[in-house]
Amino acid sequence: KRRIGVLTSGGDAPGMNGAVRAVVRMAIHSDCEAYAVFEGYEGLVNGGNMIRQVHWEDVRGWLSRGGTLIGSARCMAFRERAGRLKAAKNMVLRGIDALVVCGGDGSLTGADVFRAEWPGLLEELIKLGELTAQQVEPYKQLNIVGLVGSIDNDMSGTDATIGCYSSLTRICDAIDDVFDTAFSHQRGFVVEVMGRHCGWLALMSAISTGADWLFIPEMPPKDGWEDEMCDVITKNRKERGKRRTIVIVAEGAQDRQLNKISSSTIKDILTDRLGLDTRTTVLGHTQRGGAACAYDRTLSTLQGVEAVRAVLEMTADSPSPVITIRENKILRTPLMDAVKETQEVTQMIKEKDFAGAMTRRDAEFKE
Ligand code: ADP
Repeated sequence: KRRIGVLTSGGDAPGMNGAVRAVVRMAIHSDCEAYAVFEGYEGLVNGGNMIRQVHWEDVRGWLSRGGTLIGSARCMAFRERAGRLKAAKNMVLRGIDALVVCGGDGSLTGADVFRAEWPGLLEELIKLGELTAQQVEPYKQLNIVGLVGSIDNDMSGTDATIGCYSSLTRICDAIDDVFDTAFSHQRGFVVEVMGRHCGWLALMSAISTGADWLFIPEMPPKDGWEDEMCDVITKNRKERGKRRTIVIVAEGAQDRQLNKISSSTIKDILTDRLGLDTRTTVLGHTQRGGAACAYDRTLSTLQGVEAVRAVLEMTADSPSPVITIRENKILRTPLMDAVKETQEVTQMIKEKDFAGAMTRRDAEFKE
């Protein structure tokens, strides 16, 4: 029977367990065996007990659970060829020649590198006397399929990543809670949310909660933003009678000179200029935790099933796909196209090409 491995890598996200469950069960349904690789690429490099066969009932109850039950890690060894050589050996020894990787753009890049090197890694293992030509023979082709697990929704080519809607829900719930106390005391709150180079969580939570002001990395505010923000907040409070003020800041927020705009800077502005009793709330890792929302349960299930289908249909020369969702359709997209586009947007932000970054994001939203 064919053996399909599954691992989660990079930052954890709710829905990753649902993806693992779907891959495991679809693999078994397709008459294959499923193997979980624990602690991301660490498990692949170290082998042994970190690669284990998983049965249908082993993943029972996983659909709703937050985080990733098979663990995730940042693995330095896999960044080096020597580490990937060990990983290749472990896969051959276990008879695994297909891997579904659920992670962010870093993890998917690692997977693509691994596949590109694959036949070469096997030849090297034979040369080194680690494996025989006979052992390697059935595993000449490595099939890699990506699933995007990330709370940030920062991957190009897909409308949603596994985990982003669970995280958005958590953020909205937290802001709703803050609203109650802000209303009671007529306070201002500055709420910092995650999303490294991507303002999706901040933008969507601002829309979902009716925030007063918002900072995202892709669209730094114009010079003089301090006055403009204060004017809007004053208008909302004095003319519109708003009792609570909420400003949302993405963790990667910055001004046009790439200076970080922090929640404490904004708090000081509101306190000093408006005399507003202002508090800051950094949501931190609570945004990653908790049960997967309904959307992430369905997305991870549909995409996990599609990932196994893609594994079974891949040929030696088809590029590794990543499973995406666009306009409500589960699709396959060349993995490196999505990764490259994602990295290009990040680069544009770093080079202060904000119009370019916004156009890219906008183009994605329109696609
Ligand atoms: P994410 O997948 O969330 O973007 P990272 O960028 O930290 O997270 O990547 C997760 C892991 O993927 C790394 O710890 C490393 O093991 C592997 N990885 C990332 N980039 C590469 C690369 N260029 N080559 C090989 N492995 C990589």
